[in-house]
Amino acid sequence: MAARLGLLIIFSIVSLNGLAQENVDIDLVARIKEEAFQRSQVMDTLVYISDVYGPRLTGSPAYYEAAQWTKQRLESWGIENVHFDSYRDDLRGWEIESYSVEMIEPRYMNITALPDAWTAGTDGEVIGEPIIVDYTSWGALQELKGQLHGKILMSPEIRTQGRRREGVFTDQELKNAKSHINPNNRDGLDNSDLGPAEVRSRRRRGPGESEGGNVEQFLLDEGVAAVIRGSGKAPGTLDANQQRFSKIGDMKPVPHFVISKEQHSRMVRMIERDAKITLRLHLKTKFYTNPEYSTNIIAEIPGTDRKLKKQLVLVGGHFDSYHSGTGASDNGAGSATTMEVMRILKTLGVEPRRTIRLVLWGSEEQGLLGSRGYINKYVRDARSGEDKEELSLISVYFNHDNNGHNIRGIYTLGNEAIRPIFESYLEPFHYLGAETVTAEHAGGTDHLVFDALNIPAFEWIQDPLQYFYTQIHTSMDVVDFIAEDTLKRNAAIIATFVYHAAMRDEMMPRKKAIER
Ligand SMILES: [Zn+2]
Repeated sequence: MAARLGLLIIFSIVSLNGLAQENVDIDLVARIKEEAFQRSQVMDTLVYISDVYGPRLTGSPAYYEAAQWTKQRLESWGIENVHFDSYRDDLRGWEIESYSVEMIEPRYMNITALPDAWTAGTDGEVIGEPIIVDYTSWGALQELKGQLHGKILMSPEIRTQGRRREGVFTDQELKNAKSHINPNNRDGLDNSDLGPAEVRSRRRRGPGESEGGNVEQFLLDEGVAAVIRGSGKAPGTLDANQQRFSKIGDMKPVPHFVISKEQHSRMVRMIERDAKITLRLHLKTKFYTNPEYSTNIIAEIPGTDRKLKKQLVLVGGHFDSYHSGTGASDNGAGSATTMEVMRILKTLGVEPRRTIRLVLWGSEEQGLLGSRGYINKYVRDARSGEDKEELSLISVYFNHDNNGHNIRGIYTLGNEAIRPIFESYLEPFHYLGAETVTAEHAGGTDHLVFDALNIPAFEWIQDPLQYFYTQIHTSMDVVDFIAEDTLKRNAAIIATFVYHAAMRDEMMPRKKAIER
């Protein structure tokens, strides 16, 4: 009986003006915390989708195998309506079969290297002296026209990482963020600094296009053997790149390698001093044109309220990753944590009024293609402008991307009506350092395509730690940088938001200024 009584205790927070009142079920929050903190499965999930199946490059067999494992795992928890939902049929996958890069003269050096995604392999083993040239410059390449067959080109640029936010947010930074009234504050917490309009136009040039012509086509026509650049990340860390030729029928660019900054700069300094360097390298890659690999993963805890169950509370993030590391932080952590949210709520036997839907996207790293595909199918077709059913049914989308470190609060993207609601939901987590609601914009990931249609869609404020120097899109995006306790507390916070969003009387308020 005592337990039954506990369920009925509702903790109300009355806002200052008394107009808004948000219920927080503190008994349920306690049960969420105990399940999340004491019976967690989140690290095991992360290890599977990162160490065992990762990295999960879009369109690759690894992505698809990870998706199949995830489907089975969700079903084993009793999550319902688990299914794949394709978003494009014109994309191709890519995979590395083997490669090596070595300096063999005047001294032996085994080089830490990584190929760019969607490049062709070499024609067997290539041995040669690198030519220092800015191979991204149309002008510089024209001067060497006709002389590049079979050559290895090496960038002269010694790259350094620009200043990025790192470490834990200070109390002062969080306090400042709370009081910012402009969503597009340049001094905000978020590093990516991209509003929806900027995302739409951020790639004005097509792949390989330079001011003069298509550099990648030129390198291919010349018969260049391979090109090499130095990394711009932390020492020994490789920043992966993708040649943006991921559509079926696109050209297959020549092999591109990134090598460690230190080994690259050593060789540039040697060449400047007339040392004769000989490199030996090879690369084998494989392309895949399996349309079933381009799939989002969807799963549900169905709503139970006769009137509200058609409405949706979405939670998720992108499931794909770069081909470097194992995709543990970007976005294995977001995927594993939001899967854990579903497990926790299902295990507790909650009966949400609205349907809670997990959405794990593909092809985020190619320009939010998985979430855009979902929008086109179910929310609003971008080409025809036709509104679809879910435009009015999605109450809110909680996206989790951008590193997997401690959640410190949430970005509202300028939605002022939602501030008191989120402040209430965060209250039980103040003691864990999660208490900031900021009007600031958060950019660069899948919530933006929902926000662009004024569907409430949000990203979490997370401590950066070493994410921007070491982890993002690098060879060091690995499980070793992810703390298990962080995933547990993040899962509890998100489960609390998702549950209450699914239970409240009204849908989440949309932004007033741009209401349609
Ligand atoms: Zn990401």
